[in-house]
Amino acid sequence: MCAQQNSALWARATAVIPGGVNSPVRAFGSVGGEPYFVAEADGAYLTDVDGNRYVDYVQSWGASILGHAHPAVVDAVASAAARGTTYGAPTESEVALAEMIAAAIPGCEMVRLVSSGTEAAMTAVRIARGATGRDRVVKFAGCYHGHSDALLASSGSGVATLGRVDSAGVPAGAVEATVVAPYNAVPVLDERVACVIVEPVAANMGLIPPAPGFLQGLRRACDEVGALLIFDEVITGFRIAPGCAAARFGVQPDLYCLGKVVGGGLPLAAVAGAAAAMELLAPVGPVYQAGTLAGNPLATAAGLAVLELLGPSVYDELERTVATLAAGIGGALADAGLAAQVPVCSTLCGVFFGAAPVTDYEGARHAAAGGDYARFFRAMLARGVALAPSPYEVMFCSLAHGEREVEATVAAATAAAREVAAAR
Ligand SMILES: *Cc1c(COP(=O)(O)O)cnc(C)c1O
Repeated sequence: MCAQQNSALWARATAVIPGGVNSPVRAFGSVGGEPYFVAEADGAYLTDVDGNRYVDYVQSWGASILGHAHPAVVDAVASAAARGTTYGAPTESEVALAEMIAAAIPGCEMVRLVSSGTEAAMTAVRIARGATGRDRVVKFAGCYHGHSDALLASSGSGVATLGRVDSAGVPAGAVEATVVAPYNAVPVLDERVACVIVEPVAANMGLIPPAPGFLQGLRRACDEVGALLIFDEVITGFRIAPGCAAARFGVQPDLYCLGKVVGGGLPLAAVAGAAAAMELLAPVGPVYQAGTLAGNPLATAAGLAVLELLGPSVYDELERTVATLAAGIGGALADAGLAAQVPVCSTLCGVFFGAAPVTDYEGARHAAAGGDYARFFRAMLARGVALAPSPYEVMFCSLAHGEREVEATVAAATAAAREVAAAR
């Protein structure tokens, strides 16, 4: 195979697609070089257009929990496609998927299927504002809830900040009612707050598990002022436990955002919760929300195929794989004399360079600043292991990652860590 295909594609891509990518997280801006263009994928592996094979720890940002091209998903999608790809009318598989989600998630009676996590979070906030008649939304620095205007506010400071715009094109008015607070500290709320939205395990600033009492404290603070608690479980839902983080930590939110795993690798996400809140949505209630491709038959077929295979034992298996992987990578970094953290939360793990444990966005930014992650990323990629091209992401294992893949990854990490240490 011609080894120049990737570079040729990259040149074509940057000419016609802004930055060459259809989502900024795919760019290699913070690690350097050209992104690999995927030709095909199978289980734990990706093959790029030049024929290079990688053990893949991106797995579509966690959407592929079974691994790529799982036969059950491929068959379900193919057979659904043969019956038509979209109708704009309800189908049985939407009902079946909603029932499955409701049965798995504590306190979830009703589900609205949407096409992306962005829409799920946007809709959850709109429901909360509709339910309370209040405007204010509290989010946490470093938590990602998609790219809707109101949720694109963040803050690097340790002090809660009112509405700082994080993107051009977002009017100040759109984030005026967004309050950003530091993760892992329960903010003081008042009766202007419609909702608190949080990733119950933060996985968009590296991996930061909730401090003991944090989620319980949020539940209590919301109850005291009559605000809704929204768990954005787009990553954690059906990934860290048979249900979700709420089940694992024993704290029940009013609304859930789900996505990634639940769509089986197709564009599907969901907002879910108690009937009283969910029935505020149109057409029964006054809160409007809609979608041409919402509950798409290919996506529901894929989601159902995946959820049917996710019994409790699957999470034990994934948790063991992740524990072995994290211990191996942690050992490799320590042996090379690199100060680093490899936090683990159930089936998720991440890598932070630096001596101090990371508990919030400030810490994550500090860990990312040294540039070691970029060096480690490149050294791993050169050895056939594809990590996320950013220090603010986590590692996603799939059920297709077995002993062989973990051993290969730890061997690569051992050599890569020495290379990073030598470059210092
Ligand atoms: C990925 C993600 C989203 C956004 O989902 P999209 O499908 O990319 O719009 C929202 N919240 C969290 C926690 C996510 O990880």
